[in-house]
Amino acid sequence: MSQIVDEWVGRLKGKLPPIGEMTHWERLAGAMDLKQTDYVPVAPELDYWQITYAGYSHREIYHDVDKTTDACIKTWADLRLDAIWMYVDISHQIENFIPAERRAEHFIHRGEKDYLMFKPIARTLDEAIEMYETRAFEKHLDGSRPVTHYTPHMLQLLEFQERMDRQVPIIVGIATPTNYAETIVEVQNFQRWMVTEPEKTQHYLNLCLQERLEALEFYRQFAAGNGGTFCCLFGGARTWGPKHLARFAGVDRVFAEKATQIFPYVFWHHCGRNLPRALELIRDLPGVKGIQYDMPYYGQDLSWPQWFEQVARLLGGKQCAMNSPTTQLACHGRPAEVRRMVREFIDATIPHTTACVMPGCEVDSFSPLENVKAMIEAGRACRLT
Ligand SMILES: [Zn+2]
Repeated sequence: MSQIVDEWVGRLKGKLPPIGEMTHWERLAGAMDLKQTDYVPVAPELDYWQITYAGYSHREIYHDVDKTTDACIKTWADLRLDAIWMYVDISHQIENFIPAERRAEHFIHRGEKDYLMFKPIARTLDEAIEMYETRAFEKHLDGSRPVTHYTPHMLQLLEFQERMDRQVPIIVGIATPTNYAETIVEVQNFQRWMVTEPEKTQHYLNLCLQERLEALEFYRQFAAGNGGTFCCLFGGARTWGPKHLARFAGVDRVFAEKATQIFPYVFWHHCGRNLPRALELIRDLPGVKGIQYDMPYYGQDLSWPQWFEQVARLLGGKQCAMNSPTTQLACHGRPAEVRRMVREFIDATIPHTTACVMPGCEVDSFSPLENVKAMIEAGRACRLT
């Protein structure tokens, strides 16, 4: 039992006023099951933002699990969102691929509110393949942040979820094989190799898939085994064209099949410029109940309401549409603009499918509190029953 969770449960359990007729859990689950809910759920991805909101710096929480968890619960207790996103950074994903002495040069804190910067850990495709073939991720696992930070943080939040009687779901975030394949070598290199070395790229992707399928066994035991029910899959392949999707995206499908057998509520994070073809492929993944989508692809000259409607029609009858406002507007816009965009999203979406207020990517750490509050107000202003 964790002391920080114990303190929060003592402070909050049985003391929070209800919002609507449903619990946060029921609201998000309902929307993902394509059922009518009292309000449109509001679940912005606040992972870094909540650290800043709670008064911590990113450097300060880097090795402090309790402060990380404290920030997430404090944010939820104050704002009453319909989900709690775990804090996740890039070192949680790939620190275990490199030996401890190399980590300082690859993961860099620039400022108190800045994202953790990182440098690619392999320079060539051969180097990346070798890393996987020699199982570097296993060799360097001990003492790496997936073990020392990510896992205990996740366990604390899941403990909170269970001890609060599942009022609010914890969203466990997991990156897919294509996301790993791109991150380890940087997207632009990977894209080049898809064209110049397709066979080798396929081999590399298969290795990434293998590692991710093994990772899912960890999630089965430690996340699902401790009550984890909601899962966000951070997809890669966000800049791929239709031919690359057709040829290489199969690894993500295999991964999604396994993830959806472990978690009942899985949705897909597909940020960046979205090609409708990519959204169709995600829509057709069995068991994936929502897409956190983002902006339209460059060539598509659409207004926001038109784009919202196009995606809602695409997902209609199959998945929950998760969007709005954009992460850019959440950071740089005014509260009135945020409210308007959320309203446009809901109005364009609900004739066709369910909606969840969730910007297409994570809310920037520098985004003003008023804008996050505006997002929530706009969702709570939209009564559905
Ligand atoms: Zn994103």
